[in-house]
Amino acid sequence: MRVLVTGGAGYIGSVVAAQLVEAGHDVVVLDDLSTGHADAVPAGARLVEGGIREHAQAVMAEQGTEAVLHFAARSVVPESVAHPDRYWDGNVGCSLALLEAMRVCGVGRIVFSSTAAVYGEPETVPIPEDAPVRPGNPYGATKAAIDAALTEHARMHGIGAVSLRYFNVAGAYAGLGERHTTETHLIPIVLQVARGLRESVSVYGADYPTPDGTCVRDYIHVADLAEAHLLALEHCRPGAHRVFNLGNGTGFSVREVIEVCREVTGHPVPVVAAGRRAGDPATLVASSERARAELGWVPRRPGLREIVADAWAFHTAHPGPAAGAEPRA
Ligand code: UDP
Repeated sequence: MRVLVTGGAGYIGSVVAAQLVEAGHDVVVLDDLSTGHADAVPAGARLVEGGIREHAQAVMAEQGTEAVLHFAARSVVPESVAHPDRYWDGNVGCSLALLEAMRVCGVGRIVFSSTAAVYGEPETVPIPEDAPVRPGNPYGATKAAIDAALTEHARMHGIGAVSLRYFNVAGAYAGLGERHTTETHLIPIVLQVARGLRESVSVYGADYPTPDGTCVRDYIHVADLAEAHLLALEHCRPGAHRVFNLGNGTGFSVREVIEVCREVTGHPVPVVAAGRRAGDPATLVASSERARAELGWVPRRPGLREIVADAWAFHTAHPGPAAGAEPRA
C-alpha cells in the first residue's frame, strides 16, 4: 500500500515506518523535524521535510497515497497544561488540515495516534474503549477532539478511520528509540540517571489513591504498539471510525518502574520526592480486549523488564545529548 506517515521521524512514527517498510509498503514520511530526527527515518522510506498544512496535499497527490498514519503531534502533558494554544493549533488545526487534504485527494484510510489521556481519571480500571471521554489536560482534550472529527469524517466522507489509544509507550526497535531534546517521560529519565547524566529522578506525587501513593501506568513495548498499526491499516472499514486501546493490562507504579530500572541497569537511581505534576491522573491501565478480538493483536513483549532492557540497550548505544540527555544540573 502507498502510505503517508506524518511524524515518521519521531519515536513511535519511525518504528511504525520501519515496520511498514519491512512489510513491503511504499512509505513517505512527512515531518517538520521540530522534535523528530531525520536519521530516524528508516532506509527505504522517503522523507519530506515540512509541515502538514503546507505539504500534505501535494505529497498525497504525488505519491498517490492510499492511507495515512498520523503521528505528528505535540505530546507532553505538562507542556500542554502550560501552553494549551500550542496544542489546539499544532494538534487539532494540523489534523483538520490533514483530513481536508485527504478529502481533496480521495485518500480513504487513516490510522490516528490517540491516547489514554482522553479518559482523564477513569471510573473503571482496566479502561474499556466505551469509558467516558473526559480528558484531564489539554493534550488529552486535543486528541479527543480529533477522535470526534474522525467520527464525523467517516460519516460524512466515507473514510475508514482507526484511533489507537496508546497507554505508556517505551522500549526500542531496530535501533530506534526515545530521544527527545527535552525528556519528560519516566523511563528515559530514569535511564539517564542510571547512566550518570542526571543526579536523580523526581517522583511527582506520593499521595495518589494507589497502593504506594505514586501514579500507576500501563507500559507497552513500542514494537508491539507498532504492530497494532499495521493490523489497523488492514482493518479500516469505509464509513467507520473504530477505536482501540493499546496496553498490556498491567499497571506499574512510578516506584515499581524505578525499581525495575535499577535491576535491569545494575545502577543506583537516587529519587527525590516532588509535588504532583499538573494533569496527571492517578491510574491509567488499558483493557485491550477489543484490539485482541477484532484486530487479532497479540503483544509479544509484555514484560516491563524486557521493555526497560530494550530502552536501556538503545540509550547506552546513543551517547550524550543525542540520546536526549539533559545536562547535569
Ligand atoms: N513521572 C515522575 N517523574 C518524572 C517523569 C514522570 O514521577 O521525572 C511520573 C509522572 O508523573 C506519571 C508517570 O511518571 O505519573 C508517567 O509519566 P510519563 O511522563 O512517562 O507519561 P504520561 O503518563 O504522562 O504519558
